[in-house]
Amino acid sequence: MTNDKQPVYILPENIQRMIGRDAQRNNILAARLVAETVKTTLGPKGMDKMLVNSVGDITVTNDGVTILDEMEIEHPAAKMMVEIAKTQEAEVGDGTTTAVILAGRLLENAERLLDEKIHPTVIARGYRIAAEKAQEISKDLAIKISPEQINLLKQVSMTAMVGKGAEQAKEKLSDVVVNAILQVMEKTEEGIKVDKDNIKLEKRKGEGIENTELISGIVIDKEKVHSDMPSQVKNAKIALLGAAVELKNPETDTKVSITAPDQLQAFLDQEDRLLRDMVAKIKNSGANVVLCQKGIDDIAQYYLATEGILAVRRVKSSDMEKLAKATGARIVSKLSELSVKELGFAALVKEVKEQGFDSSEGLLYITGCKNPKALTILIRGSTEHVIDEIERAIKDGIGDVCVALEKGLVVAGGGAFEIELQKRLRRFGQGIRGREQLAVNAFADALEVIPRTLAENAGLDPIEILTELKARHEENKFTFGLDVSSNASSGGEINDTFGKGIIEPLEIKIQALRSASEVAIMILRIDDVIASSKSGGSMPPAGGMGGYD
Ligand code: ADP
Ligand code: MG
Repeated sequence: MTNDKQPVYILPENIQRMIGRDAQRNNILAARLVAETVKTTLGPKGMDKMLVNSVGDITVTNDGVTILDEMEIEHPAAKMMVEIAKTQEAEVGDGTTTAVILAGRLLENAERLLDEKIHPTVIARGYRIAAEKAQEISKDLAIKISPEQINLLKQVSMTAMVGKGAEQAKEKLSDVVVNAILQVMEKTEEGIKVDKDNIKLEKRKGEGIENTELISGIVIDKEKVHSDMPSQVKNAKIALLGAAVELKNPETDTKVSITAPDQLQAFLDQEDRLLRDMVAKIKNSGANVVLCQKGIDDIAQYYLATEGILAVRRVKSSDMEKLAKATGARIVSKLSELSVKELGFAALVKEVKEQGFDSSEGLLYITGCKNPKALTILIRGSTEHVIDEIERAIKDGIGDVCVALEKGLVVAGGGAFEIELQKRLRRFGQGIRGREQLAVNAFADALEVIPRTLAENAGLDPIEILTELKARHEENKFTFGLDVSSNASSGGEINDTFGKGIIEPLEIKIQALRSASEVAIMILRIDDVIASSKSGGSMPPAGGMGGYD
């Protein structure tokens, strides 16, 4: 723009804009920083992160998606990386760190090609070709698994759980996870289906992790509202109330002005009568257990107790849904709708008081449910932080065993899968002409970030490990990977990881490849970032990154 001409503005002044190579560099840098952050948590020897949020709550975790979620990331490209983790979590329930690290390395390698003046479109095309081929090759590397192979299933579960504080109890926890899944699993014409919603997770602080147990039925963290109520009811007919058993709900709340003492008495009598009516409605439906999502008035509690009805209040809405599914009850939102048809069934409802812990509260066990597939895993651990991490480990275990069963295919872990895929993709790359070949090779190179990171996190020399691994794969030992659990003195060894029980569902790998390549391609193709200043701070200046390998 020269001085004699007026500058032309097409955007308002408060807009930040970054174009071309700058935009690419900045985005890639941000995305790589995200990958760099979670890198140290990969694998059984990965470190944990301690996250403290704005109100001081502490989370100690090794779980990729949890870390990224809590970090409140602002940069738009970095946010896209967080999205991969979330998609990965939602689709397959595990492999979040893997997906993010892989995307980071894909972008790092792409940047080298950009420096060599290869156009982003060409790189994107090469990456897309490689990603498609990788999925095809992956299927050749998979090994079949079926519900009868209980040991393999346990190994899948253990592989998913290691590194998440579950180490010492992994056998026990895997038993629980696999048993639970085998019980809820259904064989349909389209294959095996597992409805994970049938497995409820309930947490209890106190005993050690190894006391985590599988209960057939539903356990809720509640106790009866009145001490005169029965502590157990056999042949329970269960009413699930979405409405309060009290008068002071907004619809009926009215103001009364009382001028004489007898008026007050009359008013109290009336209140009493109304509550008694409410309890009568429950009684008449035939219910002997009431699980109420809202409150229960003190007077109503008393009348319920005199009728011998066991009642619990303020049940979580998510628990209400699980209870409905388990017992066959319908959640009734008006007491007047309650009838025998709406009730659910369980052979036994029992309150169990646990003693000796700082929470002396009871647990309510609803067992022998109408739906036998309703299960609860009662997670135990010494502190809340421990329990929360165990819960995440169990969720990963459940997720992995489910996809392994549903898709029926698993692969060898510890980088075995990635190195074999790399080898075969490189061969495939040789047949590709043009500059896309460079991108296919860059994609193949990126895959080794997984064994490399596993080695680094175990304190091993990544170069040595990669060299040996590649040599083994040249000998067609395609299940050989880095086993960081055996040979503890050296930090790990190259081994047949499949044989050693380091086994992962194929689908997790495929999903990680898919989401990592999609986000890498998407970020690569952005050459213009236009940000209104309201999203302030979202565009940090591009700069050097210290300590990057
Ligand atoms: P993600 O969030 O990607 O699931 P994890 O921290 O769960 O990350 O680590 C998964 C990786 O750890 C996989 O590549 C898996 O093969 C590897 N892994 C699991 N157990 C072992 C082991 N005993 N030795 C080496 N690698 C292992
Ligand atoms: Mg995992």
